[in-house]
Amino acid sequence: MHPTHGMNEFVTTRFAPSPTGLLHVGNVRTALHNWLLAKKAGGRFLLRIDDTDAERSREEYVAAIRADLAWLGLVPDGEERQSARGDLYEREFAALVAQGRVYRCYETAQELDLKRKVLLGRGLPPIYDRAALALSEADHAALADAGEKPHWRFLLDRDSAIEWLDGIRGPQHFDPRQMSDPVVRRADGSWLYMLPSVIDDVAMGVTDVLRGEDHVSNTAAQVQMFAALGAPAPRFAHEALLVGTEGKLSKRLGSLGMADLRAAGIEPEALVALLARLGTSDPVDPSLDADALAASFDLSRFGRAPARFDEAELHRINAAVVHRLPYARVAHLLPAGMSEAAWEAIRPNLAHIGEAAEWWQVVTGPVEQADFDDETRGYLELAADTLAAMQWTGDCWHELTGELKQATGRKGKALFLPLRQALTARDHGPDMGALLPLIGQDTAAARLRAAAAG
Ligand code: GLU
Repeated sequence: MHPTHGMNEFVTTRFAPSPTGLLHVGNVRTALHNWLLAKKAGGRFLLRIDDTDAERSREEYVAAIRADLAWLGLVPDGEERQSARGDLYEREFAALVAQGRVYRCYETAQELDLKRKVLLGRGLPPIYDRAALALSEADHAALADAGEKPHWRFLLDRDSAIEWLDGIRGPQHFDPRQMSDPVVRRADGSWLYMLPSVIDDVAMGVTDVLRGEDHVSNTAAQVQMFAALGAPAPRFAHEALLVGTEGKLSKRLGSLGMADLRAAGIEPEALVALLARLGTSDPVDPSLDADALAASFDLSRFGRAPARFDEAELHRINAAVVHRLPYARVAHLLPAGMSEAAWEAIRPNLAHIGEAAEWWQVVTGPVEQADFDDETRGYLELAADTLAAMQWTGDCWHELTGELKQATGRKGKALFLPLRQALTARDHGPDMGALLPLIGQDTAAARLRAAAAG
């Protein structure tokens, strides 16, 4: 095995999205886990924009990635953009050329396809035959004269087995004789993902590469690239992919962007709480404390089975999170005039912060009165008189219902429900003990009287 980083170095992780689309929950989970890993170790979390593909990369996606990370509270400790690092790649590439670790090839896509088919037809693995390695300098010169431009492959060392201890998958072993030399640079000079990523991981001091298991075979080749660049390989961990509730990678999941979740009333704390645990069998803790989540984050808790993302579960966690959100966090999202006491009274009834407006409207009125039968109207009239005569200090709801119970012999539903209905025009809702002081004595008396009048 190649040397890896020691245990007591400064942990550096990175999230490396390609800005060719919006982040979805799967990418965000990877970003979060890298953030948690860095925070837990007191290290750095970096953002790397993998924008070597000029054609497909878009500035609006770069902006959206930054905004989504900020919304989630995953603020990077630094940012690099691959499109600005061409000089570094050229230098490192030149060193690999000098060592003979990259070589020029001219096969067209059709030729390669044919070679693959021939091998597969013979029952052999479709490994690139290294035909281009046999070309002499004179051959290259002739090809150049004919206007042919080479693409470049990285020459795998077929004599040394590739091994790493994966933080999630355990010991990994790859036989380089079963692998094709990967293409690292196109004929037009542009870079493929593989090599710049390794050059950057070295230059950025990345100690831990945590990404999706779709990168496992890339890692096998990249392990040798680190060695060729004379750098220790980082620790690697590959996470099982996220799947939808129906079991396969759903289209919906792949398109579930942060803007959609935000519009559906999902709070970042809820998404963070769920994604921090998804893929482990540990319970989701709807806590608002990201540092606590980081402290308990443990890669070894993650399994190799695909992690199931369930939107219904996200909504349940969201409700639990909303019930804990402090006033200062939500004040700017609430209707004008809605106080801290009102928020605290109302939040246990909310699935989303946006629903607070509806309950604030119940407090401030007007409320639509239901029809009550004669007997109930009599009861509500007595309630109005009792309430109007009260001191209105302390626990006024408890006091009101206590007096009415004594005076009428009513109890349970017969005691409480008509009052709730007359005061809020609803059968259910926040604790009346918290709501009544917010409605206020005069307004409450007026609502009871209006209900009694029918
Ligand atoms: N840009 C690559 C991707 O989006 C980065 C993979 C990596 O983390 O190295 O898949």
